[in-house]
Amino acid sequence: MNTNSLPSPDILIVGAGIIGLSLALELHFRGAQVTVLERSTALQHASTAAAGMLAVDDPHNPPALLPLSQLSRSLYPAFLQRVESLSGLAVPFQTDTTIQYLPDGSTQRLVEHSLDPRQLAPALLAAVRATSIDLREHTELLSLTETPQSLLRVDTSNGELSPAKLIRTQGAWARLQVRPVKGQMLRVQLPATLPLREVHRTEHVYIVPRTQGPQAGTALIGATVEDAGFDTALHPESLDHLRSLAAELLPSLANEAAAPQVEAWAGLRPATTDSLPILDAHTPSQFLAIGHFRNGILLAPATAAVMADLIEGKSPATDLAPFAASRFTNR
Ligand SMILES: Cc1cc2nc3c(=O)[nH]c(=O)nc-3n(C[C@H](O)[C@H](O)[C@H](O)COP(=O)(O)OP(=O)(O)OC[C@H]3O[C@@H](n4cnc5c(N)ncnc54)[C@H](O)[C@@H]3O)c2cc1C
Repeated sequence: MNTNSLPSPDILIVGAGIIGLSLALELHFRGAQVTVLERSTALQHASTAAAGMLAVDDPHNPPALLPLSQLSRSLYPAFLQRVESLSGLAVPFQTDTTIQYLPDGSTQRLVEHSLDPRQLAPALLAAVRATSIDLREHTELLSLTETPQSLLRVDTSNGELSPAKLIRTQGAWARLQVRPVKGQMLRVQLPATLPLREVHRTEHVYIVPRTQGPQAGTALIGATVEDAGFDTALHPESLDHLRSLAAELLPSLANEAAAPQVEAWAGLRPATTDSLPILDAHTPSQFLAIGHFRNGILLAPATAAVMADLIEGKSPATDLAPFAASRFTNR
């Protein structure tokens, strides 16, 4: 395979969601020449469908996720600072507290942030564009070959490339042990009698207020968890059900007149069977950062840091054994 004449970035990232673009920034700052392929437009899929909770201490997360979640929480301020200094756009935390309702009827008050992914998206995109990262939208990875000497040849919808290393960050479309899990969600205007400042969350529903920015005074009510393939249709009965679950926590949300729906949408979470991401080398030249399921906004800064370490041959700041691809293939 002759790859001499092809463009050859140090790193090719496939997928410009929050995982791909956060990793692109991290690798750029570590000195790599980075190209990102995105088959549609950047940050249009799960990464802007999300509620934006940084749910480190959600008791329904798999326990093995905690060290990575804690690492990400510690990296978040520097990540947002980097995005702001490159883009000029500040992304504030919307909330600092989550009321977690437990199955025994008790509640826990968690110190936990949320942010608005639709505020983060334009800031992150502007930050990437302020660097020399080569972001190629409307460019799809079509096929990939790797020689025994670890040389890569990548065929895209806009020509061929021969990167030194490739990282798949394709979200729900990654295929390798990842399936789409649909989430429908609605946003409502909050009644004047309910100036909500904290997230309310059970195992089955969450209410996430927006306190700053263009959506201030509204709240998200989410989200369904559905195995529906790549379908993203909205179903009024699902949205009604979410609203009724929310009204069990905050009764004034029951009434469409008092809390009118502003919008509704559905997105596709990239899920694995154990609800943990895959953060691993696939071959000496190919890496995987996929399967972030319900926590990809939370986990983006830590994923960027540990994947950059892995790619550079350094020891990551947290043990990646729970996120090994072999946990599926060695069964
Ligand atoms: C309703 C809902 C609520 C959520 N709430 C939260 C929350 O509160 N907190 C939280 O932390 N997380 C939340 N999440 C999860 C979070 O959104 C995801 O884990 C995260 O966005 C995944 O990011 P990603 O970059 O892997 O995927 P995506 O954002 O989906 O990006 C993948 C990209 O890869 C591109 N791509 C795919 N195949 C190719 C190809 N062949 N060539 C080129 N490009 C390709 C796609 O077009 C896409 O742009 C929620 C998700 C949903 C759906």
